Amino acid sequence: CRFQNQQILSLRSIYSISQILFSDKTFCQESQRFYKKALHFDLKRAILDCNNDLKRSRTMDCLFCAIADGNIPSKKLYEDDKILAFYDIAPQAPIHILVIPKKHIASVQEITPQNSEIISYIFERIPAIAQKAGITNGYRVISNCGEDACQSVKHLHFHILGGGKLSDQMA
Ligand code: AMP
Repeated sequence: CRFQNQQILSLRSIYSISQILFSDKTFCQESQRFYKKALHFDLKRAILDCNNDLKRSRTMDCLFCAIADGNIPSKKLYEDDKILAFYDIAPQAPIHILVIPKKHIASVQEITPQNSEIISYIFERIPAIAQKAGITNGYRVISNCGEDACQSVKHLHFHILGGGKLSDQMA
């Protein structure tokens, strides 16, 4: 999987900034919430821009393939030969993990009888991944699929959200 150098650099700097920002205990919670929102917005925009650039240049590329290959850094929680679980760069819950298949599938929309085995594989491992993350009292598993669901990374992934009471407004 090839990722253009400039894109790797910009995503690496966003990653580094977020690491510094959220590990800095001197930041008050309100500021952290504000910057988290701003960062999430910028990140989504940066990812969408990258995707559009890539479409234009017709390069076969994908952010999460680059993460699975180790070309973009991530905070890994679990890895085996088929899947990777890592911490979301802009957490939407006290604990926010992403689980991806290493083999590229664009979204739920592209699951077929030929590639669906990986889905049960992922779901069989989610309880252990959640436990390893320290989630003890329930969690939500989400996969955004397509434009209306605001899927920003076109590589199938499951969000695991937990570590605190989640809103009951979200399905
Ligand atoms: P979605 O919007 O459902 O496609 O989710 C994509 C998720 O990937 C978002 O929650 C982003 O915060 C997260 N994300 C994007 N880039 C990275 C990265 N380099 N490391 C970790 N998480 C990322």
